Amino acid sequence: MVFRIRLFSLIYKKEVEAKNTILADLSVRDSMTSLYNHENLFLKLKEEIERAKRIDYPLSIIMMDIDDFKDINDRFGHQCGDDVIIRVAGILNQACRSTDIIGRYGGDEFVIILPDTASDEVLFLAERLRYKIALADFREGIHITVSGGISELKEESAEELIKKADLQLYKAKANGRNRFEAGSLVDDVQGSLWANFRG
Ligand code: GH3
Ligand code: MG
Repeated sequence: MVFRIRLFSLIYKKEVEAKNTILADLSVRDSMTSLYNHENLFLKLKEEIERAKRIDYPLSIIMMDIDDFKDINDRFGHQCGDDVIIRVAGILNQACRSTDIIGRYGGDEFVIILPDTASDEVLFLAERLRYKIALADFREGIHITVSGGISELKEESAEELIKKADLQLYKAKANGRNRFEAGSLVDDVQGSLWANFRG
């Protein structure tokens, strides 16, 4: 009898633990894409900045935004817009390393935290993402492009690092969209990747 009571109490405890894990996960993940949500992305970035400083390795981030996304909503409906966001999240998940941290920063904007990665390496990943997304067939033959900004950690806080990437994203939009900016490196990398892609 005592054994059965102990067994039931153990099963009950495990069930409560499992439910708590699901609840905890819901509060860190964006419900639509299952990527990290805005708040937790910041917490993760703060943790990663601390780790990068402690271990002394580079840390970069990508801030990426879908181009003319309002058009997709207007022409094909909000549900179709949702599907596009979910699919983009899937492409990011597939293309990034397991150590990269991907979050939905808001609306059609994503942030990727790349531990142990300097910004020149990030440009190659960013360009790969840009191609994958530009070449993807979305529902109803929709095609989209993305723009992005890249920043590498120097001495900044999480907020400042995000702001730096956001500034580059703004530049990418101003320079015609469907491109990433990270300062002066960008033209060389985009040029060589286009050459490979065409070749
Ligand atoms: P830009 O190239 O400058 O980024 O132009 P844009 O049209 O993409 O403009 P912006 O990024 O400012 O607008 C994003 C739009 O995304 C605004 C909002 O209506 C829409 N949006 C935000 N969240 C969601 C969502 O969860 N689902 C859908 N379908 N639309 C969303
Ligand atoms: Mg947009």
